[in-house]
Amino acid sequence: MERVIIHVDMDAFYAAVEQRDNPLYRGQPVIVGGTVEQRGVVSTASYEARKYGVHSAMSMYEAHRRCPQGIYLPVDMEKYRAVSQEIMTIFQQYTPEVEAISLDEAFLDVTGSCKLFGGAENIGHQIKNEIKKKLQLTASVGIAYNKFLAKLASDLDKPDGFCVLTPNDLAAKVWPLPIGKMMGVGSKTEEQLKAMHIKTIGQLAQVDLALLERLLGKAGRQMGEMARGIDLREVEPVREHKSVGRETTFPKDIQQSQLLETVLFELTDDVCYTLRSQKLKGKTVTLKIKYADFKVVTRAVTMDKYTANFEMVFAQIKQLLQQHYREGMPVRLIGITVSHLKAEDEIVEQTSLFEDNKQEEKHQKLDAVLDKLNAKYGKESVIRARKLEWEQE
Ligand SMILES: [Mg+2]
Repeated sequence: MERVIIHVDMDAFYAAVEQRDNPLYRGQPVIVGGTVEQRGVVSTASYEARKYGVHSAMSMYEAHRRCPQGIYLPVDMEKYRAVSQEIMTIFQQYTPEVEAISLDEAFLDVTGSCKLFGGAENIGHQIKNEIKKKLQLTASVGIAYNKFLAKLASDLDKPDGFCVLTPNDLAAKVWPLPIGKMMGVGSKTEEQLKAMHIKTIGQLAQVDLALLERLLGKAGRQMGEMARGIDLREVEPVREHKSVGRETTFPKDIQQSQLLETVLFELTDDVCYTLRSQKLKGKTVTLKIKYADFKVVTRAVTMDKYTANFEMVFAQIKQLLQQHYREGMPVRLIGITVSHLKAEDEIVEQTSLFEDNKQEEKHQKLDAVLDKLNAKYGKESVIRARKLEWEQE
């Protein structure tokens, strides 16, 4: 059976939310992003700002140069997340098969619900109307028989767009487009393709798939297939994960913070590994202590960013222990939970070039190496240095 996929993309999302919330910003070039001082980049530019040549990912410095009269605003992620939640709730009314690819963009597989709602186009219009009515925002909708074409369609008619692509539209509407419009074609691939005199999607569709694979790898073949209108990728809804946690009951009560910390070290390692293997990150870290008298204490801290990084999570749990455990109190059980979870690719964070991210990057590299070893040799064979120290005691 042919699938029916809808791609919904909010128009200039962050900027549109700011314009909605402040009438003075309406009709003005609004630019949301970092600061010049911190070498920030543009997250979103309103359509008015785009007329000055300002676009996302451009340096703030360049944006100011091109549009000195613009209204420059910081990224208010909490606000955009809340609005995003409302948008996703609207999608859920039409199908549970919703794959959010960022705060303001999602694929919906409506193959199973078309009949119920009177067809895909009806669903598309209803979603647009509801977003406008409830949230005073505009979205662009693309409808097609696969993800690639649905996303392309939503982009074709932006802003406030509505576009349906059928197999019959391929030659007339898709093939004349520049290859830069292809999903997954970055500027480097674009250069490579242009060097091969491939400038349009139609030209790409004519190149032998085996040749594309030889030149550009698996991604090359996939691109060639997409250009021919073939894309079998499924819409993958992110199932809700509430939390990931581990706890341990001791055979004999423990009353030394040093020892408790070492146990938490191991539990944290486990929790972070699980998060990473499920491509999740969390924001809230909770410490649970059950005392010998069965009294249970839980204490939580919420970080300012999502992570599945061992060092970052362990630093939090260690601090919670230091703050809330009184040395000498006999402990029966200890545990750690990471909650407030999000899928890795659902997390939108500002691109940052600062020094303080270097350390984190290094930690993440270590995580990645350990994860690889874990996957290859089994979890037990790879242990962080501290764990070894403990076991040698
Ligand atoms: Mg968008």
